[in-house]
Amino acid sequence: MLRRAFIAVSWLAALGAGALGALHGITQASTTSTTALIAVVGAFGAIVIGSIAHKPPFVVAVTAAFSILVISASRHIEAQSTSGTSPIVELLLLASQAGLVVGLLLIVRRRLIGQLANVLTDGIIVGLGAWVLVWIFLIQPSLALTNNTPAITAIQSATLGVAMIVLFLLATLLFSNTAPSAPVAFLGLSVSLGLAGIILRSVIVRSDAYLFASTVNASFFIAFALAGASFLHPNIRHIDSGAISRSTAPLMTRLMTTTVSLIAPIIVLAITDPHDSTDRGVRTVSVIVLAAAVMLRVIQSVRLNATTQDTLVRNALTDSLTGLPNRILMLEHIEKAIQSSWKTTQRPTVLFIDVDRFKSINDSLGHSTGDAILTEVARRLSNAISPQATVARIAGDEFVVLDSTTESPTQSVVLAERILDALRDPMKGNGGDMFVTASIGVAYAVPTLRLSAEDLMQHADTAMYRAKSAGRNCIALFDDSMLESVTKRLDVETALYRALERNELRLVHQPIVDIDLGIVIGFEALMRWDRTGAGTVSPIDFIPIAEETGTIVPLGSWAINDALQQLRSWVDTGVCSPSTTMSVNVSARQLHDPEFVTIVSNALESSGVSPEQLWLEVTESVMITEPTQALSALRRLNALGVRIAIDDFGTGYSSLSLLQKFPIQCIKIDRAFVNDVSTDQATQNIVRTIIAMAEAMGADVVAEGVEDKSQLQTLKTLDCHRAQGYLISPPVDVHDVPRVVRSIEDPDSWVSTTI
Ligand code: C2E
Ligand code: MG
Ligand code: MG
Repeated sequence: MLRRAFIAVSWLAALGAGALGALHGITQASTTSTTALIAVVGAFGAIVIGSIAHKPPFVVAVTAAFSILVISASRHIEAQSTSGTSPIVELLLLASQAGLVVGLLLIVRRRLIGQLANVLTDGIIVGLGAWVLVWIFLIQPSLALTNNTPAITAIQSATLGVAMIVLFLLATLLFSNTAPSAPVAFLGLSVSLGLAGIILRSVIVRSDAYLFASTVNASFFIAFALAGASFLHPNIRHIDSGAISRSTAPLMTRLMTTTVSLIAPIIVLAITDPHDSTDRGVRTVSVIVLAAAVMLRVIQSVRLNATTQDTLVRNALTDSLTGLPNRILMLEHIEKAIQSSWKTTQRPTVLFIDVDRFKSINDSLGHSTGDAILTEVARRLSNAISPQATVARIAGDEFVVLDSTTESPTQSVVLAERILDALRDPMKGNGGDMFVTASIGVAYAVPTLRLSAEDLMQHADTAMYRAKSAGRNCIALFDDSMLESVTKRLDVETALYRALERNELRLVHQPIVDIDLGIVIGFEALMRWDRTGAGTVSPIDFIPIAEETGTIVPLGSWAINDALQQLRSWVDTGVCSPSTTMSVNVSARQLHDPEFVTIVSNALESSGVSPEQLWLEVTESVMITEPTQALSALRRLNALGVRIAIDDFGTGYSSLSLLQKFPIQCIKIDRAFVNDVSTDQATQNIVRTIIAMAEAMGADVVAEGVEDKSQLQTLKTLDCHRAQGYLISPPVDVHDVPRVVRSIEDPDSWVSTTI
């Protein structure tokens, strides 16, 4: 409401300003007339009220008040004086323009940070250029007509020169990224009218043109009233804030203005002849000063260019968050260190530092906390190393330290330990203290190996991975065997990708028996990879890689299909009873695949196996990593009729509450317990407890890895009715299954005799 009122009053005042000026000019009023008083007192009042109500930038209010004060004083003194122009009047006018230059510069400075000197030089060039024209067309011809003293002439000329700088600064301000608003327009108009007043006045004084003093003053009074009006507007508060940043437009405008101000006087100087020796002197001095200003501007531009280039190069080689060198620069440093270590006893050490679990910190606490942590890590690393060492941030949460002064691997490790120590203290976060740890890989340059910088960094990286898999928050020193395992892994990764297409995968089957009846009640399908040229690869070696790379998804779905087709054909050919089950191992990654349930139901449909005959074996880890997603997949599978078994039970970290939440129909007791069950009382108690728990959950129990008869007998006494293991049969090829089933179920076989 109040804001609206202020806006209305401001516009009324601006419109009133025009009327006031017109009235003053037409009535040829004096400087003590009502119109003059309204303009001056009103403007001051508006500046005071506006400053209290809208809090505009201090410099704007002071500049406006100062200019109004000195100009109105000059107007009054001039009107009172009878002896023509006095130096005081001229000095006051000069002061008003100088005040405007200072005020405008202060405002411009906020906008053009770092460019103030350039703007000032541009201003001087424009001012001087305009001054040359003013001298040739206004001052010089009128010198003969007036009887001004040289001092007054000099001050008047200076005022005109400075007024030209005001004009230039005003243009810079208006053409730059000023937010367009009513106060900007009012003030711009006000300054322009003030300038018009000064030029008109010099025309009156110098030439024979006939203009009333009150007409000149009218333009000043309109300027005052407009300035006052701008202060009443609420937007005066934002007068020095820019609109959307435009960086090229104001530059172009400035360039054009400066060029014109340079060329125009040169042309005029070239085509006009000096009238007398004073004229020649003034022209010569002006041209020399102008040339000096242009030279200064060129120097500034060249310097600015150099610094810009410097910044660009620096930005390309440093990390913007921490200000540390980046990967490219670090590699250069390492290369230099290796080169210069040849002839000395020094062997550069490269540490590869990866912040542990940074991704989860970033995801859970937000990116700004993540950035704060990285900055703090950078600071601690920089403090922990010796002045000769360098630290770089080469990617997200990865830092590299280079110390070229080390002379033995022991010293390298000591350095790494110092860094682990440096990170030990908690870091201050928004929600309290945070403990950040890191895994560090250490690589030490051995001169005989002729390693490149890339190699050395790669070695440190490889060692860092070893530190991660050793449980994080620790150090690993690189050795050649690591390189082998990395190459091997990479090799497996690529070959595995093609394994399915090349039919290199097959399933072997391990029978699961009913201990009491001595019959095969099911099979567990286990994957084998007959890798071309490398023999049969164990799933222990390739399943983890397949899980990491995601290849397990197509591999796993192939396994389900193949196992069910196999079961179908065995049932059809009478190898096993129609109710025999098929267990297939499933990784967490597969459960997270949105297509998984469809894949399973399609496999059931195409094989014609009833869902109750399919057991999917998952490990406890499934319940821990992203349990909600896994839970929903398992529930939908259960709804199909498929059954779920917990594999390797007892080796994971699942809690009773999770077990109770998950739909589980079978628990497979891990081989580790079965191994000692007949010899160790404590293990026996654990197995007994597991069986009791499974019973309470309404789940079946299968003992895995039964290798001798005593184990089987103990399990039987503990009320465990199902088992699998080498004692009964190892996993066998498809064509061996009929024979193995027959031999297990043979009444004369060991199983029947044992039971
Ligand atoms: P698992 O599911 O616990 O499979 C049982 C493992 O124990 C098999 O090893 C089997 O050969 C072995 N085993 C069976 N009886 C005995 C015994 O009496 N003594 C000993 N020492 N070992 C026995 P395998 O075939 O090497 O499989 C290892 C693991 O690889 C499996 O453990 C399973 O977790 C995974 N795996 C195998 N095939 C697949 C698959 O198709 N998909 C997925 N996701 N994982 C699979
Ligand atoms: Mg299994
Ligand atoms: Mg198992």
